[in-house]
Amino acid sequence: MDRLAVVVPCYNEEEVLKMASRALRGVIDDLAGKEKISQDSYILFVNDGSSDRTWELIEEEHAAYPHRVFGVKLAANVGHQFALTAGLITARDMSDVTVSIDADLQDDVNVIEEMIDKFHEGCDIVYGVRKERKTDTFFKRTTAQAFYRLMNLMGVKTVYNHADFRLMSKRAVQEFSRYKETNLFLRGMIPLMGYKTDCVYYERKERAAGESKYPLKKMLALAFNGISSFSVKPISLILGLGIVIIFFSAIAAVYALISYFTGRVVPGWTSLILSIWLLGGIQLIAIGLVGQYIGKIYMEVKERPRYNIERILTDEGEREA
Ligand code: UDP
Ligand code: MG
Repeated sequence: MDRLAVVVPCYNEEEVLKMASRALRGVIDDLAGKEKISQDSYILFVNDGSSDRTWELIEEEHAAYPHRVFGVKLAANVGHQFALTAGLITARDMSDVTVSIDADLQDDVNVIEEMIDKFHEGCDIVYGVRKERKTDTFFKRTTAQAFYRLMNLMGVKTVYNHADFRLMSKRAVQEFSRYKETNLFLRGMIPLMGYKTDCVYYERKERAAGESKYPLKKMLALAFNGISSFSVKPISLILGLGIVIIFFSAIAAVYALISYFTGRVVPGWTSLILSIWLLGGIQLIAIGLVGQYIGKIYMEVKERPRYNIERILTDEGEREA
């Protein structure tokens, strides 16, 4: 039977930790009882350098439930994406399937069962997608939606309304650990891997207790990181803009020459205005061109896996890679 690891990044979550542990233990006990996962499935709390009592609480939970609650203590706060990655990679070699979920119980723990069902149907990745954003403020909702649109426009494939509540099979986590990049944006990286995937839908609730650890500043940073880690389109936009400016400079030239010959201008204006447009355009094109190379270098240094082999068919039969 498959061993499940539920990976939970926690940063200053003393108010919700015990609640989260109880809820998730309930789910694991239930699923293990139904023989959907093995009895040795567990929760892996990742303490992301909390300054409150989060780690002490994790230790207490572990002492009380040594086979259900495990912990990883990061030496410093590294942020949600890295904390989650640390948890997934730690769980990789001691589980068959992982589910990542936030500590604040905003995501519905009851759909984990559905995720496991889809996993048994052969999915390697199952995305938790929230149905509506009723509980979010108007501000958070609109900014989040603008963010998904912008990501799409920039050519970054993401799953709409999916945060980091997700099931990944062991081999998906293995493949994920081949991505060595430091600028992590998991929601963009996971869809790059391929595999059979599916979604489960749920209502996102209010935070069970405590405050959001994602203030606007961190959200904006995540958004910018998401785009800049995946897309070199902004560079192409500069090049495009340069070409448009050159085109305008031709129009400006016609206008300036007509004005010059009809004699309605002060001396020097024509040559000045022509130089400004033309040079502006040339400069943008030059920056854009240099940028294209920088974009290529950027993509190269990431050294992302170039492909992901799922199955191999030979005269010895078919096997997994
Ligand atoms: N988190 C983390 N490190 C950080 C910030 C947040 O591990 O530096 C965790 C946090 O404990 C929670 C999850 O990331 O489990 C999501 O954070 P939060 O719920 O505050 O974000 P929101 O839902 O408000 O966007
Ligand atoms: Mg939250």
